[in-house]
Amino acid sequence: MSINTQKVNFIKSAASRDDFIRDGRPCVVFAGRSNVGKSSVINRLLNRKNFARVGGTPGKTVQVNYFLVDGVYFVDLPGYGYARVSGDERRRWGELMEDYFAEGERISLGVLIVDARHSPTADDVTMSDYFWNAGQPFCVVANKSDKLKKSEIPQRLADIRETLHLPEGFPLILFSAEKGEGRGELLRLIEEHA
Ligand code: GDP
Repeated sequence: MSINTQKVNFIKSAASRDDFIRDGRPCVVFAGRSNVGKSSVINRLLNRKNFARVGGTPGKTVQVNYFLVDGVYFVDLPGYGYARVSGDERRRWGELMEDYFAEGERISLGVLIVDARHSPTADDVTMSDYFWNAGQPFCVVANKSDKLKKSEIPQRLADIRETLHLPEGFPLILFSAEKGEGRGELLRLIEEHA
């Protein structure tokens, strides 16, 4: 289906299982560590500047944010891996993810965002395990590609594939929220699964 990214509304933030939306609409679920550019990727997809929050205090709110984009939920999972969060917050993140993925069959497409410049972290591997275990399609987006030299790209992509154990043919999209690279490719994949 084709998605009109102009038609977008913020719906709500959910801080616990009871607040999750279960209304049968398709859900595209975005995950990534704090500061990887998750809000920027969502904003770029929607061609908005400040729709999803950008650059606030990472790790401050452990909640799931729902945007409705032309009948499709864009579900923004809380960022992870921020060094300065308390043990309490870390625990809340884990519990909320366990709860969210307990009903993982509601995911139409997962979008795991990693930093194109670095090897995925242990937390990124944990997050990719959540998506694998949900048994639903997902893709990996390597953001901040504008910070790489062209010559570095093949090695960076190969490293991400290897660290996350992505099989051959698994969708790995080079992306720049800053420049727009990869937007069309990611949007097509989202439309295919929505
Ligand atoms: P979030 O915490 O994952 O939601 O990350 P944000 O969207 O707030 O972005 C974190 C920082 O990275 C901000 O300063 C963004 O401007 C920057 N950023 C995000 N995406 C890109 C990108 O593709 N290229 C570059 N150069 N910077 C980016």
